[in-house]
Amino acid sequence: MEPLDWSKIFLNDLNFSLALEIILRTFVMFVLILTILRLSGKRGIRQLSLFEVAIILSLGSAAGDPMMTEDMAIIPSVIVFLTIILLYRTLTFLTAKRENIEKLVEGKPIYIVEDGMLALEGIKRDTLAKDEFFSELRQYGIEHLGQVKTAILETSGSVSVYYFPDDSVKPGLPILPKLYEKRSPKISISGLHACSFCGNVVSIQNDSHKCMRCESDEWVETLSSKRIV
Ligand SMILES: [Zn+2]
Repeated sequence: MEPLDWSKIFLNDLNFSLALEIILRTFVMFVLILTILRLSGKRGIRQLSLFEVAIILSLGSAAGDPMMTEDMAIIPSVIVFLTIILLYRTLTFLTAKRENIEKLVEGKPIYIVEDGMLALEGIKRDTLAKDEFFSELRQYGIEHLGQVKTAILETSGSVSVYYFPDDSVKPGLPILPKLYEKRSPKISISGLHACSFCGNVVSIQNDSHKCMRCESDEWVETLSSKRIV
């Protein structure tokens, strides 16, 4: 095996004038990217849909090459930029007009919690791992599903939560890790338990049970605390 050529890995044929050229190229490309993103009409980025991630990735790769590759001209990248932005604006326009195109490009919002229980439809699709979803809910300060009337997974990947008012909070499946980990087919104390798969709450005696709703057989003692706002 040949010894590693460190100077080739770190410098290759970099010299002072090439370094200056890279600075100039990066400056131009940076201004171009900023201009293109402004033209996209989007106002900053918090949550990206997959469609937008695709746009950003394409812009990024088209921008990177002319920044540091000597024999890459800038205009081809500009053509790529303009094509992407035209595509973005056209699709955004079409998705606003036609719902089925929107579903195709962005996906659709999915109900994850309905009436204090996990929506079977939503969790069966496996679009969001349950622990990931519980972690989202915990960021809202939610302790158990009985506090949540509805939760919707948006196409951007964020979760929208609608709460039960305090006097309607019911016993529900705990989503705090220490409590949720205690799920088990064995019921040690008779009383209200929540199905660990779907959040269905039933009063059970200390023997084994199958959930009437989803046929899972692991249970967790419910919580019924109200939210502290
Ligand atoms: Zn169940």
